[in-house]
Amino acid sequence: MRIKQKIYCPNCGNNAQRDYFTRNKIVQTSCPTCDYLMVNCSLTGKVLEAYAPGVFPSLL
Ligand SMILES: [Zn+2]
Repeated sequence: MRIKQKIYCPNCGNNAQRDYFTRNKIVQTSCPTCDYLMVNCSLTGKVLEAYAPGVFPSLL
């Protein structure tokens, strides 16, 4: 099952989207405005994949 939630992008502040994939316990945050992408495991909080163009590359 996939649950969608509207959020604000942590990178650019525009409207972004968070998807919960309940079957494999993954949370994906994506922003169509700045191509921000963050994929987390919802159990451990571990970052599986992250991409934020330009703004804070030192965190990646
Ligand atoms: Zn963004």
